[in-house]
Amino acid sequence: MRPPATTSRAVIDLDALARNARVLAEAAGTPWMAVVKADAYGHGIGPVSLTCLAAGATWLGVAQLAEALHLRGLLDQAGVARPEPGPDAVPTPRAPRLMCWLAPVLTPQEAAAPGSPLRQALEADLDLSVSTTAQLEALAAACAAHVRAGGAPGRVHLKADTGMSRAGAVPEDLPALAAAARGAEDSGVLDVVGLWSHLSRADEPTCGSTEEHLERFARAEAVVARAGLRPRVRHLAATGGLLWHPAARLDLVRVGIGLYGLSPEPAVATSAELGLTPVMRLEAPVTMTKRVPAGTPVSYGGTWRAPTDRWLGLVPLGYSDGVPRHAASAGPVAVGTLRTTVVGKVCMDQLIIDLGPAVDDDGQDLPCPARAGDTAVLWGAPEATGSVPTADEWAAVCGTISYEIVTRLGPHVPRVTVSQEEHR
Ligand SMILES: *Cc1c(COP(=O)(O)O)cnc(C)c1O
Repeated sequence: MRPPATTSRAVIDLDALARNARVLAEAAGTPWMAVVKADAYGHGIGPVSLTCLAAGATWLGVAQLAEALHLRGLLDQAGVARPEPGPDAVPTPRAPRLMCWLAPVLTPQEAAAPGSPLRQALEADLDLSVSTTAQLEALAAACAAHVRAGGAPGRVHLKADTGMSRAGAVPEDLPALAAAARGAEDSGVLDVVGLWSHLSRADEPTCGSTEEHLERFARAEAVVARAGLRPRVRHLAATGGLLWHPAARLDLVRVGIGLYGLSPEPAVATSAELGLTPVMRLEAPVTMTKRVPAGTPVSYGGTWRAPTDRWLGLVPLGYSDGVPRHAASAGPVAVGTLRTTVVGKVCMDQLIIDLGPAVDDDGQDLPCPARAGDTAVLWGAPEATGSVPTADEWAAVCGTISYEIVTRLGPHVPRVTVSQEEHR
């Protein structure tokens, strides 16, 4: 028996995370980057990053520069070494690389100034991505100032747009970007260590899109080679690519959602079919129960009415915590072995669940199946009782994807890590 939840909390199972990491690493057969952007998809970047390193990750990846700097601080504190400088050093779990793929928009002058965000990125030994010549010029200016101040040359990954139309240079613009990067490399201020892109439809294994991405990626490789660049690390695949497109694994895979025990596309394969265990369990105590007569309207707008005399439960989680309002009268909830749903609208900090009829068909009173202090679970890893809902079920009910369900969990919901094993 687990201790009951006395306040709302997200329990993060680090053993499940480590198991998921090993399943995915084995499937990949390549070095892997743990994608820990957005506070590790809502799971907590510090413990998740350290657990992934213990499970063999040699890269950590985030989107925002601020979170990369934050992560570098956490790793320094935890005694995780900086990687060797230079374009050829191979990272290890003890000295991993940190990659950050979004950068602030700066002029070269702003970028070169002491303390500028890009100077901070270089001081933090981040690998950085560049998609445009303007970004390259700003980064090269920062790198030049950094090298003049005694720092190592910057490490740059050129991003090609292979069909996602998000970041990345389109084929028409890549030759000029590669030429500019070659110029900066020749001046000794940076090294182009990577060429990379991102798949847009890896979760549709038979649609042909990933094959087109791979063809465009091969053309981009030829363009950068013609410019005289030698990117050592070519990377394209996230979880979906790693699982369903072996040809896209290249030199490195960037694994996000699978680590957290969720499938990129449950319609293709569920977590269970992939051998993955959801890592986050969102739970809260039932703070009170009450009996209401048939016909009683529930929550704002009275959009749900008790169909019979009814037992209701109150749960201190709401949309400010990240529980979607789209879950009105639908979001699944478990209390012990009882499987029920949210009833009525989700409030800012609270929601109401149906605890079932208060009278049987003969008009006899029925006891309330739950009481104050019992734990309500909104989503987590399926259990033998079959009652615990998954983030995938919440996603289906809310018309979204599991990524959004876990990532939008509010920062003020405590993350409580649990583990039986050591992850260091
Ligand atoms: C988020 C992200 C990933 C990880 O994707 P998953 O589908 O969660 O594995 C990989 N690469 C990039 C560029 C991303 O933005």
